[in-house]
Amino acid sequence: MNPSQAHAYQDIRDGVRALCAQFSDEYHRKVDAARAYPEAFVDALTQAGWLAAMIPQEFGGSGLGLAEASVIMEEINRSGGNSGACHGQMYNMGTLLRHGSRAQKEIYLPKIASGELRLQSMGVTEPTTGTDTTRIKTVAVRKGERYVVNGQKVWISRVQHSDLMILLARTTPLAEVKKKSEGMSIFLVDLREAIGKGLTVRPIANMVNHETNELFFDNLEIPAENLIGEEGKGFRYILDGLNAERTLIAAECIGDGYWFIERVSKYAKERIVFDRPIGQNQGVQFPIAEAYIDVEAANLMRWRACELFDRQQPCGAEANMAKYLAANASWKAANVCLQYHGGFGFAAEYDIERKFRETRLYQVAPISTNLILSYVAEHILGMPRSF
Ligand SMILES: Cc1cc2nc3c(=O)[nH]c(=O)nc-3n(C[C@H](O)[C@H](O)[C@H](O)COP(=O)(O)OP(=O)(O)OC[C@H]3O[C@@H](n4cnc5c(N)ncnc54)[C@H](O)[C@@H]3O)c2cc1C
Repeated sequence: MNPSQAHAYQDIRDGVRALCAQFSDEYHRKVDAARAYPEAFVDALTQAGWLAAMIPQEFGGSGLGLAEASVIMEEINRSGGNSGACHGQMYNMGTLLRHGSRAQKEIYLPKIASGELRLQSMGVTEPTTGTDTTRIKTVAVRKGERYVVNGQKVWISRVQHSDLMILLARTTPLAEVKKKSEGMSIFLVDLREAIGKGLTVRPIANMVNHETNELFFDNLEIPAENLIGEEGKGFRYILDGLNAERTLIAAECIGDGYWFIERVSKYAKERIVFDRPIGQNQGVQFPIAEAYIDVEAANLMRWRACELFDRQQPCGAEANMAKYLAANASWKAANVCLQYHGGFGFAAEYDIERKFRETRLYQVAPISTNLILSYVAEHILGMPRSF
């Protein structure tokens, strides 16, 4: 594959585009206004098999890589939708696929592939530790054949629309490990069993139509067989998943970026002010052209990250840089799109203000731009650690 080809994976693009075309701007607008979950849209994606793209064929999926998964996410956002409602399944899947036991894969993957179960949630962030993940305070203590979990998480998305959640908790106290990244473990939590029996979910109203929550764990019991991989190595497993997440979100931002640029260049050709299309003014053309160049450039780094991830090679730098470039590019495109729609950009019926809010999230989540800069400065360029 030549990664710079605009037509890479055209068959997947055509398939996802055809499905997305059944869900109009009005559908997404209504879901946003009602602060509802796009059930019909996510169901259609599931039934068509798109959300099982990364599940191996032996477990009922299509056995595709991160590159193909990223095209699916890009197309959803490019169509005017928001992958934030369902992208969790793609990257959480990778964690189970790479580190889960054969038994775990046999139990869960076929049901996830068929749509019987959703694996849309991942619980990492905590209110008192923020980005400093190694200091998480949620603990899981082994008692016989169970782990008992106590603690709190915040901003955990799609819990109300998922059956399963991947949870990061400390299994060895920070004071007892050699490296702070050791002693954490990941678990598969069956939300159907857990909610109301040790897990309390409190929704957080927020700027985007994004279902996200505070979680409170009070002696939640998880069967020991739900530990994923080896005890104490969970942070390393999560990092693998985070590289997939960052690359997929880069693709979503690229989808957003193209959406904004298509909308604004069309409008700039049609909107007549001072007896000429606004797009005839170079003061309008140049910022749009610049935003387009940024989206195209970010796209190249996205393909590089996908390629390395799919070859199981280290891709931390590329995944982070792709997410950084793409989030900045989509944000620039969003601003240009809003600006050159003038007042109409603020009208809900144009969908720009909705997409503007949605793409703004990616400056902060799942990792903030500052933390990416810090990663590049310290891990790639070898500058002294600041934390
Ligand atoms: C809508 C939404 C959905 C989310 N979904 C999930 C989810 O499903 N699962 C999950 O686990 N988490 C989720 N998150 C959490 C998200 O990953 C975090 O919000 C994000 O990583 C930033 O962490 P924080 O909010 O604790 O910010 P903090 O860590 O408190 O940081 C605040 C600000 O300070 C900056 N900062 C902090 N330290 C430094 C430093 N040393 N140098 C420079 N700048 C610094 C950061 O860049 C940031 O801008 C979600 C968040 C949102 C808003």
